[in-house]
Amino acid sequence: MAKDKILAPEDIFVQAEKYLNDEDIKFIQDAYKYAEKAHEGQFRKSGEPYIIHPVQVAGILVSLKLDPETIAGGFLHDVVEDTDVTITDIKEAFNEEVAMLVDGVTKLGKIKYMSKEEQQAENHRKMFIAMAKDIRVILIKLADRLHNMRTLKHLPMEKQRRISNETLEIFAPLAHRLGISAIKWELEDTALRYLNPQQYYRIVHLMKQKRDEREHYIDEVMQEVKKQLDDVNIYAEFSGRPKHLYSIYRKMMLQKKQFNEIYDLLAVRIIVSSIKDCYAVLGIIHTCWKPMPGRFKDYIAMPKANLYQSLHTTVIGPKGAPLEVQIRTKEMHEIAEYGIAAHWAYKEGKKINPEKQTNEDKLAWFREIIEWQNDANDAEEFMESLKVDLFSDMVYVFTPKGDVIELPRGSVPLDFAYKIHTEVGNHTIGAKINGKMEPLDYELKNGDIVEVMTSKHSYGPSQDWLKMCQTSQAKNKIKQFFKKQLRDENVVKGREMVEEELRLAGYIPKDVLTEANIQLAMDKFSFALEEDMFAAVGYHGITAAQIVTRLTEKIREEQEKNEKIERTIEKVNASGEQISRKSKRDSGVFVQGLDNMLIRLSKCCNPVPGDQIVGYITKGRGVSVHRQDCPNIQTDEAKDRILHVEWENEESETKQYHVDLEISGYDRRGLLNEVLQVINETKTNIIAVNGKSDRNKLAIIHVTILIHNTGHLRRIVDRLKNIPDVYTVERTIQ
Ligand code: MN
Repeated sequence: MAKDKILAPEDIFVQAEKYLNDEDIKFIQDAYKYAEKAHEGQFRKSGEPYIIHPVQVAGILVSLKLDPETIAGGFLHDVVEDTDVTITDIKEAFNEEVAMLVDGVTKLGKIKYMSKEEQQAENHRKMFIAMAKDIRVILIKLADRLHNMRTLKHLPMEKQRRISNETLEIFAPLAHRLGISAIKWELEDTALRYLNPQQYYRIVHLMKQKRDEREHYIDEVMQEVKKQLDDVNIYAEFSGRPKHLYSIYRKMMLQKKQFNEIYDLLAVRIIVSSIKDCYAVLGIIHTCWKPMPGRFKDYIAMPKANLYQSLHTTVIGPKGAPLEVQIRTKEMHEIAEYGIAAHWAYKEGKKINPEKQTNEDKLAWFREIIEWQNDANDAEEFMESLKVDLFSDMVYVFTPKGDVIELPRGSVPLDFAYKIHTEVGNHTIGAKINGKMEPLDYELKNGDIVEVMTSKHSYGPSQDWLKMCQTSQAKNKIKQFFKKQLRDENVVKGREMVEEELRLAGYIPKDVLTEANIQLAMDKFSFALEEDMFAAVGYHGITAAQIVTRLTEKIREEQEKNEKIERTIEKVNASGEQISRKSKRDSGVFVQGLDNMLIRLSKCCNPVPGDQIVGYITKGRGVSVHRQDCPNIQTDEAKDRILHVEWENEESETKQYHVDLEISGYDRRGLLNEVLQVINETKTNIIAVNGKSDRNKLAIIHVTILIHNTGHLRRIVDRLKNIPDVYTVERTIQ
């Protein structure tokens, strides 16, 4: 890009004739004349007639070989802003398209660069919206900015610095993302001159000093490669790759390196006519000199998101110094220098290049940005997205199928997963990098093949992920998940707390948690949804005990009623009526010689078939059956009343008998659950459960179960004793 020479309008028309037809030339000449007339009598800060500026802008657009409308837009870009001409005037004098472009540039020009971050972000937003309408608006704006930077010396120092900063923060990154490196480098280098003149001129000075040495070395390399290429009839153009001031400056600052360490890295660029030749040249380079491992990159097979293509390699060149080599075709070179502008480049006879559309589609990032700005909650967040995702360096990694995924440097497999799909991200459980398991905070490197492992049963993102992830896309998705998940989690937690409380109170949760009981509790506390109620318990808005009291209300009423009935029946039985074999059969105990005796099993020691038993003749209440070792019948007085009794069937499976067990153990999490589970596994009914623990962490659990016989009981006791941390299991006697 010829930056030193001030172009006359005629120079531009001559240059444009190379790719525009007569009609198009006439069109842009009219635009020039129109602008000249409109700006007549206006002068720039430098004292030059104002029209010189739009002419140079149009010149830059012609050097990018853009279409006649864009060039006309370049000539006319300041007339609406600075003269009496209106958009409607332009529409009438030219056409709708030119008017739209000028309007877009004028609107962008009205955006003032402000110091507050939020306002900056708003600027970006408007810019991208403008881009969304027509990317040529940005191309004109970049050309405008480039010429303003070239003539910055005429402005006061404060303005120079402000505009340079703005250029570094907004325009150079934009040029980069559009792949227009020719403009990007110049913007950056010029900005550096105003922002840090000392360093700028120092680097210029050092570069001059080294120039001869470098050129000599590059020459040597070129001769060697040329010889080899001639043998295989490949024609190639060589150039020493110019190192840009700003990139040297940045490396010196960021990597804390000396000028020599950066500048001594030599680089050549080889331009050939076909892709096939690119690889042939690569082969020759790798034969001449030893390639450095890990430095070969094939951006031809895997283009960068801004459409850049090339082969990159570094070899140990002559004299043992590392030599960077870039190999590309002419077309790739154009794209490398002019990026999207190269795709927009006007081809005579075709108004719209169908290829143009597909190439634009490739700029996936661009569409993403438009999406993000809709997602982002406020301008500040949007600014953050831009800083991280757009303006930082990128890494390029692959899916196992070979698709390229572009991510900001520092990204981890989770960023990759969320880039693929939200659900992939949420269910990530691990990642394989180049076939090897790596942690989720592994920093992705260029060329990594990333395979995300997911599971349907994963618990979803963890809070740590927010710190690991680099992209705002991933972070936003994780935050969204938590918003939803927090409630879900509280519902589950709350339900568990209620169940635990129920067990402690001696209930079997599934028996209590019926629809009717839950509705009862919901009504009492005015919850609209069952989930709301459990979530409230989960986040301690209400205690589990409060809920349990309500849940069990009906059950307790029922129990009381039953107990009353039982007591009544007992009274009736005790009166001696209806004494028969029926009661004998009920107890399952047989008393020799006494057929008409009321027989009851004692409540203190709860004998079951198989136990050694004795009968005890009560005063007016028949015979009560005790275990032989029951302490309650060991008194002298009792001995006289003892009666021999027998079980009708010691292995009876038909009747059930209450047994109280006391289990002691170490009070650890889940002990009670395991006890209940073991009992349940034996298909034994539990009548009541009660658990408590003391401050020494000794847990005492009382359960009342229904048992058929001692064999049955022994099996349960043995199993209970096998639970880890259970110390003792005893039958209790009251
Ligand atoms: Mn301008």
